[in-house]
Amino acid sequence: MKQAAGLRGIGGTAALPLAVLIALVAGASLLLLSHVFRKEAVEDGSATVERVSETIETWFARYSALAPIYARDPRVIAAMEQSRAPGELRELNLELEAWNRLAGSSDTYVMAPDGTTLAASNWNGEVSFVGQNFAYRPYFKNAMAGEPAEFFGLGTTSGLRGYYFSAPIVGEGGAILGVLVVKITIDALERTLRDTAHPVFVTDEAGVIIISGSPALRLTALGEIDETDRARIEETRKFALSAVTPAPIEPAGSWLGGEFPVVRAPAPNANAEPRSYLHLSRALPSREWRLHLLYDAAGLNRQFWIAALALAAAAIAISSLIALALQRRRRLIERLGERERARDALERRVALRTADLTRANERLEAEVAERRAAEAELRRTQSELIQAGKLAALGQMSAGLSHEFNQPLTAIRSYSENAIAFFEAGRGDRAAENLGRVLRLTERMAQLSKHLTRFARRSPDGISPVRVGPVIAEALTLLSARIERADARVTVEGQVDVQVFGGAVRLQHVVMNLVGNAIDASPSGPPVIAIRLEPRGEEVAMIVEDNGHGIPDAALDSIFDPFFTTKEVGKGLGLGLSISYNIVRDFGGTMQAENRSEGGARMTVTLRRAEAPAQEAAE
Ligand code: ADP
Repeated sequence: MKQAAGLRGIGGTAALPLAVLIALVAGASLLLLSHVFRKEAVEDGSATVERVSETIETWFARYSALAPIYARDPRVIAAMEQSRAPGELRELNLELEAWNRLAGSSDTYVMAPDGTTLAASNWNGEVSFVGQNFAYRPYFKNAMAGEPAEFFGLGTTSGLRGYYFSAPIVGEGGAILGVLVVKITIDALERTLRDTAHPVFVTDEAGVIIISGSPALRLTALGEIDETDRARIEETRKFALSAVTPAPIEPAGSWLGGEFPVVRAPAPNANAEPRSYLHLSRALPSREWRLHLLYDAAGLNRQFWIAALALAAAAIAISSLIALALQRRRRLIERLGERERARDALERRVALRTADLTRANERLEAEVAERRAAEAELRRTQSELIQAGKLAALGQMSAGLSHEFNQPLTAIRSYSENAIAFFEAGRGDRAAENLGRVLRLTERMAQLSKHLTRFARRSPDGISPVRVGPVIAEALTLLSARIERADARVTVEGQVDVQVFGGAVRLQHVVMNLVGNAIDASPSGPPVIAIRLEPRGEEVAMIVEDNGHGIPDAALDSIFDPFFTTKEVGKGLGLGLSISYNIVRDFGGTMQAENRSEGGARMTVTLRRAEAPAQEAAE
C-alpha cells in the first residue's frame, strides 16, 4: 500500500516538470546544434578561403616569372640596344607573338625608356600597342627604376581588366634599355573562381572588387574610397572612378558572438533574391589584396532545420514514449490501488462474516447443548411415560388378571377337593387325573406371573435382533383374559420367524397396545383381529387389522399425539399410540394408521429386518 502511494506520487506529478525539462533540453540542443553548424560553416568557409587563396597565388605565380625571363633574352636586349623606332622591330614582334601564344598570356610587349611601345605580340592585331605610350602606368615606372613590377588596371586600349607583369631590360653596361611587359586578363581566373561552391571575390588596397566570379560585383566598392586612393587611381588610370559603384552587399548581423559578420548579397543566379552569407576574408600574402568568400548560409540553414526537425521528432518520440510509460505506470498504480481496496473490502467482509459465523456457531453450540438436554429430558420422560403406560395397562389388566387367577384358583380348589374325594373313594386314577389338572393350572399361573414381572420391569434402551413371533405370542398371552372376555378372534400369519431390530418387552408393549385398541374399537360385535408379518425389502411390516368402527377422519392426524383419546374418561389416557410410536421410531421403524375400505382400522408398523441369527432377547 505504501509502495503504491509512492509510485502514484511519481506518476501523478512528474509529467509537468518532465515536459518542461524536455522543452529545455530541446531548446539547449537547438542552440548547441546551431553553434555547431555555424562553427562548422566557419571552418569549412575558412578552408575554402585558404584553398582559393592558394589557387590565386599559384595562378599569378605562373605568369610572374615570364617578364624577367623574356627581358633577359639576348634578342630582346639586342633589339633594344639598337633603339629603333616603333614598327621597325618586325622580328621581335614575331618573337613576342610566339611567346605570348605559348604562355597563354593576353599581350607581351616591349617599351622604350620613354614609355613608347616598340614591339608587341599584338603588332598585327586589330588593336596594336606598337607606338602607344603607357609611361603613366606604375608598372612601367617601377621597371624603369630597375625593379620588376605588377599592376592591375583596365586596359586603356582594350577596356578589359588586365594584370601586368613588367621587368627592366638591362643592357650589357647595366643601363636600363626598356621594359618588358606581360599582360594577362583575369577572365580565366574568374572562370575558375565561379566553380567554387560559394561566391568569391578579391578587393584591392582601396577596397574595390577587382576580381569576382559574379559580374554584378565587379568594380564595385565595399566601402568608401579614401582621398589618397582616389588620387592614385586617377594617376595610374587604373579604372574610371565614376564607374565604381557601392557593392550590393549589406551587413546583416553576425555569428558566434560578433566574430563573423553576416551579409546580404545578390545570389549567384542573377534573378534570385539576395541571400544571407557568412562573410569570410583574408589578405592575399603576396599582394595588398584581400580575398573574400560569401559562405552561403541558406544551405546551412536548411541542414540546420532538417537536423532541428529530426531533433524535435526524436524529442517528441521520446516524450511520447515517456508519456506512454508514465500512463502505463499510472494505470498500473490505479489497478494496484483497486486491487488493494478490493482486498481490504474482502478482508473486512471476511472479518464480518467470521464474526457472524463465530456468533452463529456459539448460538448453534448453545442450541445443541439445549437440544441434548431436552433430548435427555424427553428420553427420561418417555421412559417414565412408558412406565406409566404399562402401569395403566396393568390397571386395565388387573380386572382380567384377578379373574385369570381366581378362576384357576377356584378350579384348583375343586380339582383338589375332587382328588381328596377320589382318594378317599379309592379311585387313585381319578385323583391323579385331577391333580394333573391342578398341576397344569399352576404352571399356567406361574407363566402368567412370570410375564407380568417381565412386563412391569423398566426396560433398557438397547436394540438387538428380536424374533417377532414369540413377542406377539407373549403379548397375546398377557391379553388372553381381555380377548376371552370380548370373545375376540386373533390370528397371526406370515413370517413369524423373522427377526427385527428392537427390544422384546417394548415391542410386546406395542403389540399389546395395538391389539387392545382393536378390541376396544369393536364394542358391539365379536372383534376379528388379524396380525400379519410381511417382508418389505430391508424391512418387515407388522400389520394389525380389525373390523371395528375405524378411526374418525378428523382424528387420523392426531391419534399419535400424546393424550389424544376418544375413549370415555377413565377408560383411555391417550398415551398408548404416542408411546408405541416413539418406541418404533427408536427402533428405526415407522408407524402408520389408516382405515380399511371394508371397514375397520389398519395399523402398519415397519421394522428393520435383522440378519443376525435368532436370539431370544431378554430385557
Ligand atoms: P387410548 O387407547 O388411551 O385412547 P391410544 O393412544 O391408544 O389411547 O389411542 C388413541 C385413540 O386412537 C383412541 O382413543 C381411538 O380413538 C383411536 N384408535 C386407536 N386404535 C384404534 C382402532 N384400532 N380403531 C379405531 N380407533 C382407534
